[in-house]
Amino acid sequence: MKAPDFSYEKPTTISDVLALLANNELECQLLAGGQSLMPMMNFRMASPGTLVDISNVSELSGINERDETIEIGAMVRYRELELSEIIKAHCPLVAMVLPYVAHAAIRNRGTIGGSIGLSDPAAELPAVLLVLDGKIEITSEKGIRLEPARTFFKGIYETSCEPDELITKIILPKKHLKQKFGFHEIARRHGDYAMAGVCIAQDIDLKVRVAFFGVADRAVRSIAVEKLLSGNSDLSEQLIKDAQNALNDIEFEGDMNAGPEAKQHIAKVVLERALKEMKNE
Ligand SMILES: Cc1cc2nc3c(=O)[nH]c(=O)nc-3n(C[C@H](O)[C@H](O)[C@H](O)COP(=O)(O)OP(=O)(O)OC[C@H]3O[C@@H](n4cnc5c(N)ncnc54)[C@H](O)[C@@H]3O)c2cc1C
Repeated sequence: MKAPDFSYEKPTTISDVLALLANNELECQLLAGGQSLMPMMNFRMASPGTLVDISNVSELSGINERDETIEIGAMVRYRELELSEIIKAHCPLVAMVLPYVAHAAIRNRGTIGGSIGLSDPAAELPAVLLVLDGKIEITSEKGIRLEPARTFFKGIYETSCEPDELITKIILPKKHLKQKFGFHEIARRHGDYAMAGVCIAQDIDLKVRVAFFGVADRAVRSIAVEKLLSGNSDLSEQLIKDAQNALNDIEFEGDMNAGPEAKQHIAKVVLERALKEMKNE
């Protein structure tokens, strides 16, 4: 199938993008890497009146190190993140998950802003943002707001971003000394969307955050598992079993890969594997 007719704009500044988005009559939709939006348009799951291509907006590029944080422009592509020494040094969890985000050809085009803006329930980066307590910088003609990841993702392809708003940056805290991270996912083929996956962060004070993807209507944290794991320096076999048994505070949802019960089972498997990998580090 072909996409329905649409107008096309390619602004070069954030203010020009915002002016287009503020015009309701244009029915704008942002185009970043196009790796999800173009197929959605061809399947007629999306039919924007005006496609606003933001790939020439240089203000949306760049990975910048600040005192406490790393700021990533919304148009930074996965491949640039994969190659970045700043990301390797300060955001090791991002570096861990990137090889599992889609296939190399898609990583050459796909962007961090597109991944966060889409909120696909099976995408890795929303879960990374949840466990790192990341923030999303969102800009409109009304101003700039910073939204914590924990309130940003609302459901399948649904975020708190309004139609007149643009994600301009993703802000992640730098890794602290002795902070530990875990990640594991199961997919039918390497590079496919995960059937289920988990990201884990353990702080110096042994506070733990755990987020799953591919199992519900969005990336979700399991507070029950976090409570059980927090405060423990030894990830014993028994503790890992207890954590698996505690994983019942998520509303598991099926998809074309598996039903809700199978999703819960796979979530327990990825949790066990990620924790064992963290223990053996
Ligand atoms: C075969 C295949 C396998 C894939 N596997 C995975 C996978 O395993 N893991 C994974 O995470 N992804 C996967 N993807 C999706 C891929 O990562 C996409 O690139 C990504 O989800 C969207 O990024 P994009 O830059 O291409 O965004 P686009 O497709 O251009 O846009 C996606 C959505 O985000 C919105 N958007 C884009 N930029 C902004 C912005 N700055 N502000 C607000 N809204 C914005 C767009 O309007 C659109 O609604 C896969 C895709 C394919 C085709």
